[in-house]
Amino acid sequence: MNFDGFDIDRKTRGILDSLDSGGRMPHAVIIESRDSEAAQSLALLLTMYAVCESGGNRPCGACPGCVRAKNRAHADIFYPETKNKSKTYDAESMRNLIKDAYIKPNEAAAKVYVFDKADTRLSTISQNTFLKLFEEPPQNVYFILLCENAQRLLVTIRSRCTVIKLGGEASVDEKAAAAAAKIAEGITAAREYELLLALRALEDKQLRDDILTALKQIFRDALVLLSGGQVRGDSGLAKNLAARFTKFKLIEMIELCDSSALQIKQNVNINLLTTRLCGEFRRISWQR
Ligand SMILES: [Zn+2]
Repeated sequence: MNFDGFDIDRKTRGILDSLDSGGRMPHAVIIESRDSEAAQSLALLLTMYAVCESGGNRPCGACPGCVRAKNRAHADIFYPETKNKSKTYDAESMRNLIKDAYIKPNEAAAKVYVFDKADTRLSTISQNTFLKLFEEPPQNVYFILLCENAQRLLVTIRSRCTVIKLGGEASVDEKAAAAAAKIAEGITAAREYELLLALRALEDKQLRDDILTALKQIFRDALVLLSGGQVRGDSGLAKNLAARFTKFKLIEMIELCDSSALQIKQNVNINLLTTRLCGEFRRISWQR
């Protein structure tokens, strides 16, 4: 990939080059950053890459496709806007957009949709409407979702996207991520005590929800690996789980996280919850 004229950090360049070496960019990319300018700059690079007409190192920056992309005047690059006061994408526009995605590009070989502030503008309903599109995307259609915090997007959406995190800021509280990793390790530990100890992190009211979300993401990553997909970042833990558990067990664990999150909302006694979680995780992992 050609980074001339773009200020892209080395880590991100590495990720992009590895995507590029496959010859195609992933059909759905989440760019997570608190720096919206940096995110938009990367989005521009990717849109140019998608519509560049040069046969060489793309994007060339000079062909009509690249120039139009830079001027936000390319007929195959779309920046959906919000119309309503709540600053979310309305259902009708989303339905039209989905229909439009199945129509061939106008002039380039690809079509690109760029959603700014996707984590606040895409409602749960819109995201669910998109699921099918993301599962079986039309050929040569790309989606770029810009957001500050990818964790706010549905896990079902996230798992279908390549997530590029800019600047290295933590989106989930790093403490929560670390606690979730400990719990995941505890699940595979021989001694029950280690799991119980790790689950005590849930006693922290501020972190509970984020811990369960991060834990679910680990299971989700393991599922993706089991299905032959790739996951972002350090996947050692997910690899361990994928090597050890079946899809059904992983799904059962994800559901357990969901039901626990619900119980937390209903003010369950946290000691009861951690004891139950410990028992259930052990049951799922050891049953035949
Ligand atoms: Zn070009």
